[in-house]
Amino acid sequence: MGALYIHIPFCLSKCYYCSFASIPSAFHLYEPYVASLRKELNELAHNYPNFKLTTLFFGGGTPTVLPVEQLTGLVRYCREVFNEDNETEISIEANPGTVNLEYLDALRAAGVNRISFGVQSFNNKELKALGRLHDGNEAFSVLDLAMQAGFNNISVDLMYGLPCQSVDSWKYSLQKALNSGVKHLSLYQLTVEHDTVFFKRQENNQLLLPTEEDVLQMDEVTFALCEGEGLKRYEISNYAVSGYQCKHNLNYWFNNEYLAAGAAAVSYMDGTREKRSQNPDQYIDCIASNRSVIVEKERLSSEASFRETVIMGLRLVEGVSRRRLFERYGIDVERYYGHTLIDLEKYGLIELSATTLRITDKGRPLSNYVMAELV
Ligand code: SF4
Repeated sequence: MGALYIHIPFCLSKCYYCSFASIPSAFHLYEPYVASLRKELNELAHNYPNFKLTTLFFGGGTPTVLPVEQLTGLVRYCREVFNEDNETEISIEANPGTVNLEYLDALRAAGVNRISFGVQSFNNKELKALGRLHDGNEAFSVLDLAMQAGFNNISVDLMYGLPCQSVDSWKYSLQKALNSGVKHLSLYQLTVEHDTVFFKRQENNQLLLPTEEDVLQMDEVTFALCEGEGLKRYEISNYAVSGYQCKHNLNYWFNNEYLAAGAAAVSYMDGTREKRSQNPDQYIDCIASNRSVIVEKERLSSEASFRETVIMGLRLVEGVSRRRLFERYGIDVERYYGHTLIDLEKYGLIELSATTLRITDKGRPLSNYVMAELV
C-alpha cells in the first residue's frame, strides 16, 4: 500500500466555517505552486524508490480551482514518477461551480477515478449562511455531469447542525444526495473552529445553531436514511455502498504510512510525522531555494503509535483487529488498557471480542469520550 496526499491550498473564497489551510483568490500563485509541487514530488519519488502508488488524493482547498491542464498535468506527473498499482485509486476534491463537463472529461482522461464534491447542503438558505458560492441546483447538476463524464465513484460531503437548519431540511439534503445515486457520503457535524467567521459570530452571540436534541435527531435520521438506500456506515462520518469505501482514507484510519506534498501537507513515513509550511508563498520560496519545506517533525515511539492506531481504528465501525495490533506492536490491547477497557465495556460503550475492539452503537455518539479515555 502506498498512499500519497497532495494539498492544493487555494479556493475561490473563504467559507464562513472553514479553518482548513486554504487561501482565496491567489490566482498568481497557481503556476509557481504547481511547479514547486512537481519539484517536491520528483524528490519524493527519488527518496522512496520502492514506493508503489496505490492511492493518490488531491485535497484542499479546492484542487479544481486550478486550470485543468495544471491539475491533470500533476496527476500525470505522479503516475509517471511513481510506480503505479494496477488499480490505483485517484481521488480529487472538487466544488460545484468550479468544473464543467469538459473539465471533468479531462480529469477522467488523466486517470482520475474518484471525485468528492463539497456540497454541504442542497438548501439555498443554508448554503448562503455557510458562505458557499454555489446553490443547490448547481450542486445537483454537477453530480449529473460527473456521471456523464464517466465517474461512477462519486462522493458528496454534507454538513449538519448548521445555522438555519431543521431536521426536515437536513433530511431534504440527505435524501437529495441519496437520490442522485452517489456511492459515498461524508457527513460532518458543524464544529465552530477558531479563526473563522462563525467563531467571531458565536463570540458575539450572532450564531444561531440547532438545539442538541435536533442534532441528535439529525444523527438518527442519517443512519436510517443511508442504510435504507444501501449506504453502510463504515466510519463515524462516512457511508458507502459496498466496495466504494475510500481506500485513501482507510489507510489513515489504519494508521499506516503515507507520503504527502504541498503546503500544510503532513506525511507519516518510517515512524516520523512531518508537517510542511502552511503558507504557499513560503512553500514556493523554500522549494525554489532548495530549503526544507518541513516545519514540524515528530518521531513517534512504538507505544505512541500503538495508541494512535487504536484511536484511529476505533473510528471504523469494524473496529481494530487485536491480532494486527499484536503483530505490529507486540502489545495486547486488553492487557495494555486494563481497567479502563473493562469500565468502558461495562457501560456498553465498547465491545471487546477475541479478535476485535470496537465502539458499540450505544458508544458511537460518545466516541469522543471513549477515545479520550484510551488516547
Ligand atoms: S471550499 Fe472548502 S477549503 Fe475552501 S474555504 Fe470552503 S470549506 Fe474551506
